[in-house]
Amino acid sequence: MLFDARTLPDQSVLQADLCIVGAGAAGITIAREFLSTGLKVILLEGGAAKFKHRNQMLYSGETSGRSYLPLEFTRRRQFGGTTVTWSGRCRPLDEFDFSERSWVTHSGWPLTKQTLDPYYARAHSVCQLDAYDYSPAYWGSDPGLDPSSYLEVKMFQSSPPTNFGEVYRHELEQAANTRVFLNANAVRLTLHADGRSVASVECKTLHGNGFRVEARVYILAMGGLEIPRLLLISRDVQPDGIGNGYGLVGRFFMDHPYLTAGVATSISASLPQTFLKMNFEIKQKHLGPLACVGLNEAKMRDERMLNGCAYFVKRPVYKLIDTYFSRTMADFMQIHDILRHATAPSARIFQSLGKAALQVTRIAPTIRRIIEHRISPSYGWGIRFQLEVAPNPESRVVLSEKRDPLGMPRLDLKWQMTPQDLQSYHRFEALFIAALPQMGIKARPFTHDVDSSGWPVTLLIGKHHMGTTRMHGDPQYGVVDENSRVHSTANLFIAGSSVFPTSGMANPTLTILALAIRLADHVKARLGG
Ligand SMILES: Cc1cc2nc3c(=O)[nH]c(=O)nc-3n(C[C@H](O)[C@H](O)[C@H](O)COP(=O)(O)OP(=O)(O)OC[C@H]3O[C@@H](n4cnc5c(N)ncnc54)[C@H](O)[C@@H]3O)c2cc1C
Repeated sequence: MLFDARTLPDQSVLQADLCIVGAGAAGITIAREFLSTGLKVILLEGGAAKFKHRNQMLYSGETSGRSYLPLEFTRRRQFGGTTVTWSGRCRPLDEFDFSERSWVTHSGWPLTKQTLDPYYARAHSVCQLDAYDYSPAYWGSDPGLDPSSYLEVKMFQSSPPTNFGEVYRHELEQAANTRVFLNANAVRLTLHADGRSVASVECKTLHGNGFRVEARVYILAMGGLEIPRLLLISRDVQPDGIGNGYGLVGRFFMDHPYLTAGVATSISASLPQTFLKMNFEIKQKHLGPLACVGLNEAKMRDERMLNGCAYFVKRPVYKLIDTYFSRTMADFMQIHDILRHATAPSARIFQSLGKAALQVTRIAPTIRRIIEHRISPSYGWGIRFQLEVAPNPESRVVLSEKRDPLGMPRLDLKWQMTPQDLQSYHRFEALFIAALPQMGIKARPFTHDVDSSGWPVTLLIGKHHMGTTRMHGDPQYGVVDENSRVHSTANLFIAGSSVFPTSGMANPTLTILALAIRLADHVKARLGG
């Protein structure tokens, strides 16, 4: 059943067996797993059924680390969460990603790929994907690489992309055991006096009324930025925030860097049609299977590298210009938002105008590069990298001094990358470009304008928020245990990519869903559902 929390009497108290906060990919998936149980479930969603600017702006915050997009541009605050806008590219993490790698500090999951495999298979149907098979042979996408090659085809599949808010709304509306509250913003978790378990979730609406939910078990599923925010804000009993006894909440923030590394200037006719179709002919939407190319595990171990993959994108010139413009556009859109809704003081307008002007000055070097690399606007294929970054405790979110209209401190994202990330990217580029002729592809790598830390200024981000409540068997090194339970809190669990100890190179949502389904099974067993 679906309700609007704005119609609840002020100070209402609601009760349930399970309270899930956040109705995005993870929250909706978990709620669906409980539909056939006799357990009472409440699903709290801060957004409305449709996009609302006021709700979305609750996501705005500061970014004082590496240059990042405005936080409200990197996720969606509405029923269905960010799946309203995601692209749907899916791939499980590699076995390699779960392993502890001596050259990557803080690497290693307390789970193996084999443990997650049955859950990945179940997650596939949630995302409306084909068979849970990522072997190039299954897809007929083998480009016939020499057995001695260190290159390897890495398949991705594409969800339609499933908009969870549309596809699963009816089921949740019909469910007798599930109450979904829209416009219901969790603003604080309260603990029992002994500090060992959650007593309630305090909620507010932008309408002004407040209420609280009391449940036996709580699952936070608000995405990789809002989960640490709520934990850090909830300080009544634990002064540093819930689960933050070792100062880990909000640390280890990771995202996937993307960049256009060059152009493919000629492609051999001997490459199988199937491989070309799954790479060079992909569309922007409804992508279908995608055959990326990366390094095999032996090579990555040998070279002590991070994971990464490459694929080919159409119209690289536009992509390059788009890269420069996307940040400029973001700044202009912020100005537009501010003027239209008068949500911020004029200082913010000048700040955004200044940033936008700075971005415009970067168009000149882009044009220079286009001429320098002799790329005509109609030219075919750009080579795009998608990379893993190493977990880094200094890359983090903290609470800012500023508050949102609900009175919650906003976030400040201090994204950092390490010299190891840069080194691994350079090595990946060198090895990949050198091996391309084996596949009958000739390439012209770009020389990039770089920022003060040596990264190309055209670097893009995946908008994948990972690592901020990392998983580890030992509370000194992780916020949640291998069952995604907050170490310090008996009845509090976390669903989403904030629990990833490492990011791998694959897009995160399929792994989020596999972990969410596994968590649902665990909580069902515990609640006796
Ligand atoms: C443009 C774009 C393209 C993407 N493409 C891909 C892709 O191709 N493949 C891929 O794997 N991933 C992709 N992603 C990432 C993907 O969308 C996320 O990994 C996924 O949606 C995360 O699921 P989630 O449930 O953890 O969070 P979300 O889907 O963001 O859901 C969180 C929910 O919590 C709600 N919420 C937040 N705070 C509160 C609060 N205080 N109280 C109550 N409710 C709250 C939000 O409104 C939202 O509904 C993309 C992201 C973007 C922005």
